[in-house]
Amino acid sequence: MYPRLVFDLSKVKQNLDTISNLVKKGGCSLMIVTKSFCADRRMAELIAAHPGVDYFADSRIQNIKNYCDLPKETVLLRLPQPWEVEEVVRYADISFNSEISTIRLLNEEAAKQDRIHRIVLMIDLGDLREGLFFRERDTIYETVEEILKLSNIQLFGLGVNLTCYGAIIPKHDNLSILVQLAEDIRARYNLELPMVSGGNSSSLYLIEKGELPEGINNLRIGEAFILGNETAYGQCIAGTNGDAIVLEAQIIELKTKPSVPIGEAGMDAFGQRPVYEDRGNIKRAILAIGKQDADIDSMTPIDPDIDILGASSDHLIMDVTPSKKEYKVGDVISFTLGYGGLLKAATSNYVNRTYIGD
Ligand SMILES: *Cc1c(COP(=O)(O)O)cnc(C)c1O
Repeated sequence: MYPRLVFDLSKVKQNLDTISNLVKKGGCSLMIVTKSFCADRRMAELIAAHPGVDYFADSRIQNIKNYCDLPKETVLLRLPQPWEVEEVVRYADISFNSEISTIRLLNEEAAKQDRIHRIVLMIDLGDLREGLFFRERDTIYETVEEILKLSNIQLFGLGVNLTCYGAIIPKHDNLSILVQLAEDIRARYNLELPMVSGGNSSSLYLIEKGELPEGINNLRIGEAFILGNETAYGQCIAGTNGDAIVLEAQIIELKTKPSVPIGEAGMDAFGQRPVYEDRGNIKRAILAIGKQDADIDSMTPIDPDIDILGASSDHLIMDVTPSKKEYKVGDVISFTLGYGGLLKAATSNYVNRTYIGD
């Protein structure tokens, strides 16, 4: 059935091999982040079986629930919503936090469930998403002191997230602030504080350059392992595949028509006023996939001679005129995906999944 995502499990495994070797070379434990493919169960089983992976991580507790029976520790990356602390304590071994009121709720819930819940305290080094602001030392120390009063919470580490909202690139200098802060907290409170989590796929390049500060001992990797590129500068990572997951859709109409619509132009299905390039008469393929299933700016046809003209909610329109292949109705076109494209296709209920290469 189409449209579908095709997971090539042998390519995914190769990516895992490469990324886990790289992360271990940097002296770090590895969290594999599963949100971009909605914690797909077959993928989770493959990841759980990999000796180089230390933790499963996701931003949503629903996804973690999907694989918390598998033999890896689980980490909730997004700050817990106060209403969901019951499930967070039940299904996540560790959660990332920045609000003492939420941490207190986790503590109460952990006491109810007779567990110790571990937390990583997030520090904002300037990307301006989550975390205690790094310049406010007093607030950080006060928060640590409050956490240490809680009987069922273990302060397990510090973490930072970069290159998300503010697009700030991790460097030796900003990550060193995190390492130093961890050292200060250890000394001041006589704590072990075992984890210093130094970011996501955008931190990987520092390992290759030998610039990841000593003391960063964990990385959380999603995009780099699934799409094969680091995300600070967008470089491909040698030894990974960018096509481990591809999206396939089927042609439902193929006709030669003009390239510019005819009549008075109003707005398209999404309220935009598009502009059309005049290519003369072209061979137009309509595929049964649309904006409800796909992010058309984040998908690239594998056939290099065809391109996407546009889409509405259920139809994708392509120009296949220059292709060496003689397309016909019923043929399937394959696309590699960017991060947004994978996220959207994996989230759509209308996109099927299939697995090859295991
Ligand atoms: C999504 C996410 C990651 C993974 O990011 P990638 O760029 O896909 O490696 C890591 N940490 C946090 C907190 C996240 O939300």
